[in-house]
This record gives sequence, structure tokens and C-alpha cells, in this order.
Amino acid sequence: MAVFVYAENINGIYKKAAFEAVSYAKAVADQAGDTVTAISVNPTDASDVLYKYGASNVINIKDEGLKSFSAKAYAQAISEVANGNIIIFPHTTDASSIAPMLAVMNGHSLITNALDAPESLSPFQVKRKAFSGKGFMHAKAESAGVIITVSQNAFGVKENPVSGSEEVKNLSVANEDTKVISHEQSSGKLDLKEAEIVVSAGRGMKGPENWGMIEDLANVLGAATACSKPVSDIGWRPHTEHVGQTGKAISPNLYIAVGISGAIQHLAGVNSSKTIVVINSDAEAPFFKSADYGVVGDAFQIIPALTEKIKALKG
Ligand SMILES: Cc1cc2nc3c(=O)[nH]c(=O)nc-3n(C[C@H](O)[C@H](O)[C@H](O)COP(=O)(O)OP(=O)(O)OC[C@H]3O[C@@H](n4cnc5c(N)ncnc54)[C@H](O)[C@@H]3O)c2cc1C
Repeated sequence: MAVFVYAENINGIYKKAAFEAVSYAKAVADQAGDTVTAISVNPTDASDVLYKYGASNVINIKDEGLKSFSAKAYAQAISEVANGNIIIFPHTTDASSIAPMLAVMNGHSLITNALDAPESLSPFQVKRKAFSGKGFMHAKAESAGVIITVSQNAFGVKENPVSGSEEVKNLSVANEDTKVISHEQSSGKLDLKEAEIVVSAGRGMKGPENWGMIEDLANVLGAATACSKPVSDIGWRPHTEHVGQTGKAISPNLYIAVGISGAIQHLAGVNSSKTIVVINSDAEAPFFKSADYGVVGDAFQIIPALTEKIKALKG
């Protein structure tokens, strides 16, 4: 029986998290001696992009009612096509709310935030993130059926091309519980959760008028921008940029924190980043304890100089 994976798209375009989840599913399927079936809802992208990461079959659900997102309706639609014992999701905001619904519907075990390929398939056992990324645990599924969410940027996107086939399923799932009233689009060019590099800043920037230098650095690095909670609370930056325990949890390859003290609630959302660079004028700032690289100094001098150096290197 196939290993199923939910390939999430945004406005029909597959997310990087979908490629990572398919890559993960391929590793699981290889362990099981099986194939990967990817499921997507109303995609516009061609299925070829999923074959590239190891999906042998792609089921495209076409359902007008699913044009607005509802975890319950999506779980219902996925349950109609995924009839295997292993169903994998990326740990995105949407997918991590579909997965528990589906687990309840199917009576499957749910393991969230998987970090590595499974240690065993029967029972399903895998290393997962715990305590907001401050620790790890090895979780074992109690039932034969298991639903996994894969922590973003943990397993990585791995090309594994296969020749694939596509099936279109026309569904009309009831989607009456949710009505989208308004939709807030992040101001940044890049989706914060998908970004490989994030430049983030805090109250040390003194005011919103100083964010130009943060955006310049982000632009030159091809990075998304983020901020600490107080910065979005006082309206210097949009709430979509707030990272931390009560904001977005991100795990980019590089997180550059400028003028952020490193409170535990901030770290909870960023400490899974692969490399952390901290720029702070206070050598005693707690963030330095979590940093891979630290620069003690005034951001107002360091950031423009750094941007110029990177521009010169790139040029
Ligand atoms: C329940 C709860 C949930 C919370 N959730 C979150 C969350 O999700 N995310 C979050 O971020 N916070 C959260 N907080 C708030 C958190 O505790 C901190 O108050 C907050 O992270 C501090 O933001 P900051 O680092 O921008 O500001 P500050 O703590 O004021 O730090 C500013 C830093 O800038 C440095 N600085 C000043 N001038 C310069 C300069 N010229 N150059 C370089 N550095 C300079 C200072 O040395 C200082 O370290 C939460 C708090 C609570 C109680």
C-alpha cells in the first residue's frame, strides 16, 4: 500500500514545504519497499514538479468548495482518497491543523514535527521536536495507521526523480463551517516560513523609520524579514512578521537577529534555525548564548556596512 503525502499549494503553486514532505515520504516509502502517492487540492502547477521529488502518483482533488480553506473540509477530502496506513503532511500552519482532524477521523496515531526519517515503521517510531525546539523525543505510534507532520527545513528537499502518473478526483465536500472574511497578505516578498534566510529585528532598531536598512540587507541576501513581538505590537511592523512562541515558528538555514535581546519566548520560535547570527550592542544580551556567530556593536553602523560588503562580494 502506498505512502500518502499531502502536497500543499498556495494559490495553486506548490510550496517548498510540499517538496520537503514529498522527499520525506519517498524516504519512508523506500524503507517500506513502497511508492509515494501525493495528494493536492486544486493545484495549478503541473504534477511533474512532484515526480521530481519521488511521487509516483499524484491525486489532484478538484473541488470548488475547497477554494476557501477549512481544516475539517480538507481532512474530509483527503480521507476520501488516502486509504493507506501512513499519511505525511508538512508542518505548515494549514497542514498542521488538517493532520489532527484526519487522525481523529481515521483513528490513526498522530506524530507532529518529525525531524528525521523513521527509526522503525512497525511500530512507526521517529525523532521529533519537543518543548518548542529546546529538546527532542522519540515518539512511537500506538496504532497501525499513523499521520506524521514533518518539521519545516529539518529533512530538506531531496530530488529523487521517478516517472509518475496523475489522477483527477472531482469532489464536492461540504465546506460550510468556514467563511473567509478577509485575507492578510504578508508584506514581504518571501513567505517567512518558507524562507532559507531571515533577517529579523527588534526594539533595538528604535523606530519603524529605521527598517530600511533591515530591508536592504534582506534584499541583498534574498531573505525574508521578521521581527520580535513588541515591534509588531506597537505597529512598527505587520503582525505577519512576528516570530516566537506567540508568533510564527520558523527554521531557516540562516537567522540574523538585529537588536533583539533573545527572550525565551522569542527563542521558542527561532531556535530551530540552522545558523543563528546575533547583532547586539550589549555583550550580555541573552541571545548570544544561542548564537553560532555574534557581533557586539551598534546595528546602525554594522547593518549598512554588512549590506555594502555583501553587495560588493556579489557584484
Ligand atoms: C506570554 C508571552 C509571550 C511572548 N511571545 C513572544 C514572541 O512570540 N516573540 C517575541 O519576540 N517576544 C515574545 N514575548 C516578549 C518577550 O518576552 C520579549 O519582551 C521580547 O522578545 C523583547 O523584544 P526585543 O528583543 O525586540 O526588545 P528588547 O528586549 O527591548 O531588546 C532590544 C535589544 O536591542 C539591543 N539594542 C539596542 N540598541 C541597539 C543598537 N543600536 N544596536 C544593536 N542592538 C541594540 C539591546 O541591547 C537589547 O538587547 C512574549 C512575552 C510573553 C510574556
